[in-house]
Amino acid sequence: MTSQRTRLRMIERLRGLGIRDAAVLAAMAEVPRHVFVDEALASRAYEDISLPLGFGQTISSPHTVARMTELARNGRALDKVLEIGTGCGYQTAVLARLARQVYSMERIAALVRKVRRNLREAGVANVHLRHGDGHAGMPEVAPFDAIVMTAAAPRAPEALLGQLGAGGRMVLPVAGGNGQHLHVIELTAKGLVERRMDPVVFVPLLPGVG
Ligand code: SAH
Repeated sequence: MTSQRTRLRMIERLRGLGIRDAAVLAAMAEVPRHVFVDEALASRAYEDISLPLGFGQTISSPHTVARMTELARNGRALDKVLEIGTGCGYQTAVLARLARQVYSMERIAALVRKVRRNLREAGVANVHLRHGDGHAGMPEVAPFDAIVMTAAAPRAPEALLGQLGAGGRMVLPVAGGNGQHLHVIELTAKGLVERRMDPVVFVPLLPGVG
């Protein structure tokens, strides 16, 4: 159930759902998703569903992780990436295969501790976890090639947009009048350009630490 074969079936499904970036598919073929979900749910780790994560939070479905990573990567090799909302750490581990360094912020301390163990078990070493409110980002590490936010907000937090490097992209769920959609915000030579993409469902970005 947690075998390489099960994982490859997941990759085939992602391809069928329109994920095209071969580097993203290769990364997801290698990261053991079952390590990041609770043991009781490990048998469902490779289905295309979101799963409960505890603390009232949810783990994004493989398709959502693939889509956000593909949009953030935009076919580029990534140096520094910032993630807001570490959750179970699965998206973090996928990003870590595609970037030199990943910085990830989570407001719930118990999740940060758990993810530290999960990443060690999965053999991921290029991730820096920080317990804190992601609204502020990590100005001391900026600029980032990509910022992936995995909790929904009415708009991208201003401080985060200021931490994008030239040509950098932020991908986030934006909650509006007609539900949530993924947005891509790119820092182009002409300034920030924002595009609305697929409908999604995420838990809200909350203020402060839990
Ligand atoms: N990518 C994660 C998504 C988890 S759900 C996964 O697939 O597991 C969203 C996460 O964002 C939750 O863990 C929640 O605690 C966290 N979060 C919400 N508001 C936050 C904030 N202001 N700063 C940091 N993390 C936040």
